[in-house]
Amino acid sequence: MRLFAVFLILVTFVTACQTAFETEETSPQPVDDEGTQERDEEASNELRERDEVQEEEELLDVDLTSFANRQPNQWAETVSGVKTRLHTDEKVIALTFDACGGPYGNGYDEELITFLQTEQIPATLFFNERWILEHEDLLLELASDPLFQIENHGTAHVPLSVTGHSAWGIKGTSSPEEVVDEVLGNQETIKRLTGQAPTMFRSGTAFYDEIAVEIVNELGLEVVNFNVLGDAGATFSVEQVHRALLGAKSGSIVLLHMNQPSSGTAEGVKKAVYDLREMGFSFVLLEDYELE
Ligand SMILES: [Zn+2]
Repeated sequence: MRLFAVFLILVTFVTACQTAFETEETSPQPVDDEGTQERDEEASNELRERDEVQEEEELLDVDLTSFANRQPNQWAETVSGVKTRLHTDEKVIALTFDACGGPYGNGYDEELITFLQTEQIPATLFFNERWILEHEDLLLELASDPLFQIENHGTAHVPLSVTGHSAWGIKGTSSPEEVVDEVLGNQETIKRLTGQAPTMFRSGTAFYDEIAVEIVNELGLEVVNFNVLGDAGATFSVEQVHRALLGAKSGSIVLLHMNQPSSGTAEGVKKAVYDLREMGFSFVLLEDYELE
């Protein structure tokens, strides 16, 4: 709380300095073109600085004091607050694809994405920052396609914990502040590149404690996992993916991957999509339904 107060004072001070600077600027200036240009540049620099201060203020304007001394009781993929299905009885399924990034996760399953586009199948794509930094152009291309909803899959791709819990051998974040960084680092990158702010978050490994989930909610995002494990981290064969997807029910959220082109995911999804359509299912975006 004290840190937060110090920050507020700093912001007030910076704003005051800017105001003083602006007052000086109102003194008479030569009216030649160069002078005008200089003043324009100064004005736009000033605006930019003010934007930066404002942006930082937004980033830090999260009061974490209420989370500081709490101990979590749950550690899983389905802790309190995590959404796992659509609130509907309609025969709809939400396909979600993670792009995880990292040394073994920076691939792009073009065959899969082309299939979704050709068949006009909406899908929600969760991007990790490491993947984005390798494929900025692809992110922009996919973000401009209304078929796809773009969401946040974390900055370092780690489990979301306030105490440093691990999942699948990957150490999680270890404080409320680190939880905020893991979410907002990539959030800012996606916003900067696409101009759109994600409204949903899924952590690397999809593990959380319930306090970390509350913090993500405090940041204005929903935490979204799944109730159908579609490709088990892109390790399933074509037939395993096919079979897993046929287990989907009304309102299911399916977890798959779009970053492992040599996996069975694309072929398995193709087979399953045709079968599910015959069974009367259609495919929807997460943002079109209330989640539960
Ligand atoms: Zn991932």
